[in-house]
Amino acid sequence: MKKNSFSHLPASRRKFLRQLTLGSGALAFGAPLIANTPLIIRKPAKKLGIALVGLGNYATNQLAPSLQDTEHCYLAGIVTGTKEKEAKWIEKYNIPTKNIYNYDNFDQIANNDDIDIVYVVLPNSMHAEYTIRAAKAGKHVICEKPMGLSVKECEDMIAACKANKVKLSIGYRLHFDPHHMEIIKLPKEKPFGAVKYVNAEFGFRIGDPTQWRLRKNLAGGGAIMDVGVYCIQGARYATGEEPIAVTAREFKTDPVKFAEVDETVTWEMEFPSGAIANCTTSYAFSTNRLHVGMEKGTAEVQPSYSYRGLAGHVNRKLMDFPVKRQQASQMDNFAQVINNGGESEVSGQEGLLDLKVVEAMYKSIKKKGKRVKV
Ligand code: NDP
Repeated sequence: MKKNSFSHLPASRRKFLRQLTLGSGALAFGAPLIANTPLIIRKPAKKLGIALVGLGNYATNQLAPSLQDTEHCYLAGIVTGTKEKEAKWIEKYNIPTKNIYNYDNFDQIANNDDIDIVYVVLPNSMHAEYTIRAAKAGKHVICEKPMGLSVKECEDMIAACKANKVKLSIGYRLHFDPHHMEIIKLPKEKPFGAVKYVNAEFGFRIGDPTQWRLRKNLAGGGAIMDVGVYCIQGARYATGEEPIAVTAREFKTDPVKFAEVDETVTWEMEFPSGAIANCTTSYAFSTNRLHVGMEKGTAEVQPSYSYRGLAGHVNRKLMDFPVKRQQASQMDNFAQVINNGGESEVSGQEGLLDLKVVEAMYKSIKKKGKRVKV
């Protein structure tokens, strides 16, 4: 993993040097200047500062290490409710104390020019509040999946970002993984005819029964909200279409542990072209696969949704890609969108469309598997 070579310098100097090396490579490498050749000075692309909000498992073990591998952004600050975490992060990542916030003084981040992007990595029920507060502070936002607990929350988040002229993206890291990028191409390029069928499954056996993921008020739901959204995503980008209807059923084997949230859910999604997706998500067992059936061939990624070690084929031709942290590519892509203009490929709209499907699924479960229009 690449080490931060400026980590011994004060923050202001580090930021200056990062911008310099990024924007003016030739000068940094000492290329000779030829007499009479006009010197073209290009405005250096700004390396953007990210503040992680909520220093739990994902922020600590995936996002912060990935930020050491990014080219267009860096770890500039943290927001935490746990005082003891501050010293550890200062020591490990050399974060200036002025870039450390808690949930009470979070809104003061508006006055901090080191922070360009706020990355919300909190329990699901806090996504909307912190996205909206970050937008009001004038910061661009990355919000983890699921975007919110309801379509209404997603709409409010999108509206707040629009009103404050900041960009919003969702932590859909797989759009930047080369295996999934091959799948995304299938409905556009149709190398083996139209996509007719998708099978998406993602589940794992959840541990600690006291964790927030099993509390409805914090998680909004169970396996569907946590890992089922990857299957909804997979089905949507493998077909390149928006579903028109779903049928879903829930199965519980441990009604005590899963008293508040869904344990295992199977569902079907119907698409306008006639394509169908058959999906399963679970907190009771492991499954991890995305299979695409086309008119004249198949594609598959298995394991499909992990951080690394993905493997797959497109019509028996093996996928073979260099290893890169998905989260580094994802955050770099958003930084480039901010610097160059345009919208993130995983904008708030993507998160909202998934929540529309989620809401239809819960309605269908309530109606014992009745078909519900999306
Ligand atoms: P954790 O439970 O490990 O961490 C959540 C952190 O949020 C806590 O450590 C704490 O940080 C803060 N927090 C604030 N209020 C609460 C509260 N009431 N209860 C619990 N924690 C609180 O969760 P994860 O890191 O696994 O998940 C965080 C988010 O990231 C979720 O939305 C999840 O869906 C998403 N995620 C996305 C992944 C992906 O691949 N894209 C993978 C894993 C998670 P502090 O002590 O600093 O205040």
